[in-house]
Amino acid sequence: MIITHSTFLIITVLDYNLTDKMIPGLAIDIDETLSWTIGYWVGTMQKLFGNPENLSQNQLIAKYRYTQNVPYWQTKEAEAWMEEQRFSNELQTKLPLIDGANTYLTKISKIIPISAYTTTRPDKVKDGTQKWLEQNNFPKAEIICRPSELPFNKGDEWKAKFIKENNSRFIGVIDDKPQIAELLGEEYNGTIFLYEHANVNNQSNVISCKDWKTIYEKVKEM
Ligand SMILES: [Mg+2]
Repeated sequence: MIITHSTFLIITVLDYNLTDKMIPGLAIDIDETLSWTIGYWVGTMQKLFGNPENLSQNQLIAKYRYTQNVPYWQTKEAEAWMEEQRFSNELQTKLPLIDGANTYLTKISKIIPISAYTTTRPDKVKDGTQKWLEQNNFPKAEIICRPSELPFNKGDEWKAKFIKENNSRFIGVIDDKPQIAELLGEEYNGTIFLYEHANVNNQSNVISCKDWKTIYEKVKEM
């Protein structure tokens, strides 16, 4: 085969794309790591379905943790609203940003690339999610959502399995859920930056980070 100038160019371009995709990087969670999703839900539900205990958003979250634990919101009306919102692209675009998440993640991406946003949101809300990430100037990366046919309560298992199966792609994870760290386990050979949690376990691959600044400092030390 005679290698012409244009053949060389094509090979170079293909090779570059392949290499680019193979660079290992970070898997980034979205809800409660980048966006204060629970805060938005609670604030909206207090307005729509009542706040008989007169709690602030933070007080209600501290007391019940999830909206499905709030006794006076377990009505058919509220449940139907919640189910609709989980699949709403529009809702994703309105979520509040966690302070500093976008600026620190941009700084982090200059040290370790962002391989993907890995979220247990159903893939039906990928468009709204992408819009929100763009609105808030997050680094560009693939968005990997839970397959919509998988039930919501299987989300963490799905995510941990996906990260483990793509081990060569993800050298680290930023996530707020201790369950993700546990499901990945000691055998996961990447680093798990656990956002906003005190040391919840003694896993050697977990670094507990109280805020985004701490994650950035820890990434710099890697
Ligand atoms: Mg999360």
